[in-house]
Amino acid sequence: MESDAPAFREFSPGHRSGYVTLVGRPNVGKSTLMNALVGRKLSIVSEKPQTTRHRTLGILTGDAYQVIFLDTPGAIEPRYRLQESMMKALGGALEEADLLLCMVEATDREPDERLLSLAAERPALLLLNKADLVEEASLIPLVAAYDQRRQFLEIVPLSALTGRNVELLRELILAHLPEGPPYYPPEMISEHPERFFVAEIIREKIFQTYRQEIPYSTQVNIVAFEEREGEKDFIDAEIVLESESQKPIVIGKKGEMLKRVGTLARRDIEEFLARPVFLQLHVKVRKDWRRRDAFLRSYGY
Ligand code: GDP
Ligand code: MG
Repeated sequence: MESDAPAFREFSPGHRSGYVTLVGRPNVGKSTLMNALVGRKLSIVSEKPQTTRHRTLGILTGDAYQVIFLDTPGAIEPRYRLQESMMKALGGALEEADLLLCMVEATDREPDERLLSLAAERPALLLLNKADLVEEASLIPLVAAYDQRRQFLEIVPLSALTGRNVELLRELILAHLPEGPPYYPPEMISEHPERFFVAEIIREKIFQTYRQEIPYSTQVNIVAFEEREGEKDFIDAEIVLESESQKPIVIGKKGEMLKRVGTLARRDIEEFLARPVFLQLHVKVRKDWRRRDAFLRSYGY
């Protein structure tokens, strides 16, 4: 496994490590599971599909193991340029993986063909998530259908939401990882800088606050992130919109809507960083940013 991060080569016999990539349709529960496994809120969870744009990385370190999780954007057909770059991120996460976690919903009737083709020839566990919504016995036809198609190392019904079988899954992941050193220092839980998570939290609140197209046409940039001695951290974030007409909707009467986003986001940011922050939000219009390459590049896509 190649990695840009410094590898800590000394490791005790039996230590296991590796990259584990979560794949599955939008909304199957990938982000929820990663948060449950890593035990901290690293990836935004939303009832709306396709909210995970970047691959988010969570690191789970124990005495004898280190698992590095890649949470992918859903496997989707690119419709906008933005989605094309999301798909590229997905390709990389698949190639890097020592183990794939292929996630589907326990309520599915048919195997997920796209997932089967993406996951071909890689060691993989099949996760039947949202098992809290069905009777165990009703899973038999789905399990049999997947069994016929390919050899999964394990097939695990679980609920990322209630935590059922999440502990068992953790053990199964470890059992299927190669022996190897920890790649990151134990105190690191993620490769992304804090500002990435701060932007993700704000984006999650935008998804919770506004309807329809608005969330999909926004981008959040952290303009300033200053740690200040004896004072709260200062965070300045801009919300980039696609058109002038979206501005009054996002801001709301007397700034009410934007204030709501700010309050919700600040609470979660403070919880995530475990320290108080001062959060400032402002709104900017960049016409059709989703379709324009230059903007996408300057926003890190
Ligand atoms: P992702 O798009 O695959 O990352 O999916 P998310 O993690 O964002 O979850 C999508 C939705 O499914 C959210 O509303 C979750 O609360 C819900 N969800 C996730 N896991 C479960 C589960 O095990 N059971 C049930 N009932 N809902 C779940
Ligand atoms: Mg997600």
